[in-house]
Amino acid sequence: MGHGTLWPMEPCAERDKLKSAAADALKDIINFTERLLKAVRSEDPCGSLTPLDKDLENAVGSKERAFGALAQHCKEHGCDAGTESKMSDAIAK
Ligand SMILES: [Zn+2]
Repeated sequence: MGHGTLWPMEPCAERDKLKSAAADALKDIINFTERLLKAVRSEDPCGSLTPLDKDLENAVGSKERAFGALAQHCKEHGCDAGTESKMSDAIAK
């Protein structure tokens, strides 16, 4: 069926959506990390760190899921084929 070769040059809307979800999850990790870092350097009581630490943990969990979904989509859909050949072209030149 030519799986993965049907639309080698087409951008995949679903992949883009999953990529931006992964990027958002990474931004969340940065935000929560900065907040936790500030809190840990301040004179705040240890108890105030726990909710921030939980937020960061949740953000890391979302990131894992987002990247898992992205990798699974690209594998199942085969929509990475175009990118890969473009990349090897770039290396060959
Ligand atoms: Zn796709």
